Amino acid sequence: MGDILNVSGLVTQLRNGTRIVDDISFGIRAGETFALLGESGCGKSMTALSLMRLLPDGVMHAGGAAQMEGVDLFGLREREMREVRGGRMAMIFQEPGLSLNPVLTVGQQIAEALALHQGLHGTAAQPRCAELLAQVGIPDAARRVAEYPFQFSGGMKQRVMIAMALAGQPKLLIADEPTTALDVTIQAQVLQLLRDAQDGSGMAMLLITHDLGVVAENAHRVGVMYAGQIVEQASRAQLFAEPLHPYTQKLFAALPDAARRNQPLAAIPGNVPPPGGITQGCRFAPRCDRAWALCSEQAPEWTVVGEGQGVRCHLYQEPGIRIQDSGVKGEERGHPSPACGRGAGGEGGSTLNPQSPLLQVSDLHVHFPIRKGVLQRTVGQVKAVDGVSLEIPRGRTLALVGESGCGKTTLGKALLQLIPPTAGSVHFAGRELTGLAVRELRTRRAAMQMVFQDPYASLNPKMRVAEILEEGMAALNIGNDSAARQTHIDTLLDQVGLARNAKWRYPHEFSGGQRQRIAIARALAVSPQLLICDEPTSALDVSVQAQILNLLKALQRELNLSYLFITHNLAVVEYIAHEVCVMYLGRIVERGTAEEVLRSPGHPYTQALLSAVPRIDGEGRSHLHDDGLG
Ligand code: SF4
Repeated sequence: MGDILNVSGLVTQLRNGTRIVDDISFGIRAGETFALLGESGCGKSMTALSLMRLLPDGVMHAGGAAQMEGVDLFGLREREMREVRGGRMAMIFQEPGLSLNPVLTVGQQIAEALALHQGLHGTAAQPRCAELLAQVGIPDAARRVAEYPFQFSGGMKQRVMIAMALAGQPKLLIADEPTTALDVTIQAQVLQLLRDAQDGSGMAMLLITHDLGVVAENAHRVGVMYAGQIVEQASRAQLFAEPLHPYTQKLFAALPDAARRNQPLAAIPGNVPPPGGITQGCRFAPRCDRAWALCSEQAPEWTVVGEGQGVRCHLYQEPGIRIQDSGVKGEERGHPSPACGRGAGGEGGSTLNPQSPLLQVSDLHVHFPIRKGVLQRTVGQVKAVDGVSLEIPRGRTLALVGESGCGKTTLGKALLQLIPPTAGSVHFAGRELTGLAVRELRTRRAAMQMVFQDPYASLNPKMRVAEILEEGMAALNIGNDSAARQTHIDTLLDQVGLARNAKWRYPHEFSGGQRQRIAIARALAVSPQLLICDEPTSALDVSVQAQILNLLKALQRELNLSYLFITHNLAVVEYIAHEVCVMYLGRIVERGTAEEVLRSPGHPYTQALLSAVPRIDGEGRSHLHDDGLG
């Protein structure tokens, strides 16, 4: 079978000549899914936008060719390219809510694609719109064509986007992180839908993702991208059996799971360099623990190492040097380890029985009134948290697992009394928190701190790090004076693995992982006993996630901290949690040790959650066969 898309030597650059996609080549055959895998900022999306010729201002195609069924995409006039886009070549994006037009019904939006690419107009297009919606699994499709995007959930919006893409009967679908914004069960449905759409149609797919689980689930072949280049290319089976490039090996080693519970994850030190940041030698050299002198002097060439398999690394260029061992030893380089000096700590002076739980929540309810009419009469209740009981001992981690909208975050805020509970009790460190006066609550709250999902949004961009860390301490009269607080700030920065001079910088000067470290330091500034971590790693790349998980584990050992870890990522739960509560529609439907809940789930919802998680098991999922494609 010939290639539907053939890309050779693609170069995309900024006006100043800085290359952001640098000499990329790959082909995708009919019916095949080719995954571009890599961390944020490595050039995956820019590759897709280059192929669609939808580059933002200031970025331009600067070399190489892309042939779509033999037609050079860069040789087409803009008018001709418009016919290709949405027709033979369609694209779906990460955030379907932003891609759909809010003032048009979904039927009108699909009809637009049908008119443009299939010549179907007016009433003739209506049955086809409904058919497409039904094909992507939207129930009652004939009625729902007349609805607007806001009437659809996130997963349903992504289905509508896929229906629009399929309207043009594309030969190539570019899916840019199509499931990143979705819950795990919805992700499983959308990935299945994409596979179904390929079955029989012969549609080729370029799947852009940072998630190895998604690659294992849907890809036939994989290109691993790093700093604008493809550094490894292989079939899915080859990649999962034996990743060759040190970067790919590190990505695998950084994945959390139960087997690594008692050891630090192998985080990749540092960050992806900015475009043009490394002009000489291998771009991965500053982060590679196998680099030698040649690596920083000379850029490695592309080396073919087997059938359909290649790698860009000096290790494979010189016979006899190749090292089979993954070389990942599990230590995190480049950050001072807060684990040193580990000890029990934390209990000093406490009059509490160390065996009694630090946090004990009984039958907690948070209901929100539904008001209607001119008089805003209460006509019902939304039971966001509906009779939750749980407890967390000192020095332990309880994971609260569930999908968006199940009430996890509301519960976290209710524990801190940021949302007043409707009923129930929150007993923390020997005191009941519900009903406390604001002033007393403020003091008690210091011992319970929250770390949020988005470190970009949770830090004040106008304050320096030192001010951010000092703010809470000053408000709670921690430290005798500013000098004492500055000393404490230095200690905090040491603890979270940031350089002391970071305190003079602003949040925008840091990467996502570093900002999450600052957010953790801010929480630690007031010497808490419990951290409520609300999806603290879900906005981070896998290697940065590994650094933050290592840090949280080390801080727990050092300071005897307790964590309520709110997450939907079951791999993270396996790695970090001692106990697990599974939440569904405001209630805890299953609880137990991490081992019990994840190994032998009892509740059907937990079983559904676990079966929806893409598993990385050797050659990836069994439902994919290499049937002549890989
Ligand atoms: Fe590491 Fe050198 Fe290979 Fe680059 S070329 S990935 S620095 S071993």
